[in-house]
Amino acid sequence: MLTFLRIFAYLKQNDMQFKDIAGQRDVINRLTEIIDSGRVSHAQLFLGATADGSLQLALAYLQYLCCEHRQHYDGGELRADSCGECPSCKKLAQLMHPDLHLIFPNAATSKVSGSSIWSGDFMADFRDFVLQHNALGTLDEWYATLGTENKQGMIRELDASHIVSDLALKSYEGGWKMMVIWMAEKMNIAAANELLKTLEEPTPGTLLLLVAESDERLLSTIRSRVQTVRLKPADSLQAAAGSEEFAKLLVEWLRLLFKLKMKELSAQVDRMAAMNREQQKQFLGYALGVMRDCFLHGAAGLPVDIGSGDQKFDAMFPQMVTVNNIELINTALNEALFALERNANAKIALMQLSFSMSMALKKR
Ligand SMILES: [Zn+2]
Repeated sequence: MLTFLRIFAYLKQNDMQFKDIAGQRDVINRLTEIIDSGRVSHAQLFLGATADGSLQLALAYLQYLCCEHRQHYDGGELRADSCGECPSCKKLAQLMHPDLHLIFPNAATSKVSGSSIWSGDFMADFRDFVLQHNALGTLDEWYATLGTENKQGMIRELDASHIVSDLALKSYEGGWKMMVIWMAEKMNIAAANELLKTLEEPTPGTLLLLVAESDERLLSTIRSRVQTVRLKPADSLQAAAGSEEFAKLLVEWLRLLFKLKMKELSAQVDRMAAMNREQQKQFLGYALGVMRDCFLHGAAGLPVDIGSGDQKFDAMFPQMVTVNNIELINTALNEALFALERNANAKIALMQLSFSMSMALKKR
């Protein structure tokens, strides 16, 4: 149990950097260019499914905006990113920056109820939820975490008046005052009208990021006042993340399972968890197929083209999968698949899988 808690604490050191977001490279490069040129629009709408990374992107965007040591890369797919190390990055990654305000759908629960509830009453739960799900948790998952017992959450007038008053405050750290409204389409009419006033007369130094899965339910008066950042849908990402990418990811992971160096393994698990849930499941399905191939061919001493581009590895690895451990490997992968299907925390499920796989491989 102790080990598990320690792993959990380790995994909880979250990062909100662009590099951890699956795909969206073109969108990200455009965003960093705009920030670098100092033409940041005070009201923006990040449009895309949460599971595809719309909230992740909004948070990484803020981290880059406030980063004290922005990193620029030459020639890479990703042209710039926040440093992840400076005080501002650290505070934002933990959602603890004093100038970051969060608003999200909420509803009465068995613990918190009454006519004056608003997002602030659920802030600690929401922070945990976002961090544990790497900002990919869906609205249904959030309601399940809250325990709203089938009541639909909403963003109400009281939430909107907090938006207005929070943004009217002086910035604590002298920089941007940032407001993220997650699932902005859940604003009711009263809240939307209240928000409209802020959009019409923004106080200087404020940044309002609306994150929504659909803009159909947003008032057209709001839509016309925000700059829209449209995420690429996961379908097109999935086509990009073909078996070649899976192969690369799998080989890197398998190599680390032998070394079992915590830091490297954790970084690799982060990369796997950065895919959306559908891709994670496809990846594990792919891994199951490769393991079966290795078992069938390894026994006969035949190499398997795992896609490592390394003949030595292709010849060596299949011999690690034998009659002694194929069942263990199968079970570990299937259990992880099952956990992901039931919306378990991806990092924890993949880390547990890594340990089970590592032990299984040693039992060849
Ligand atoms: Zn930084």
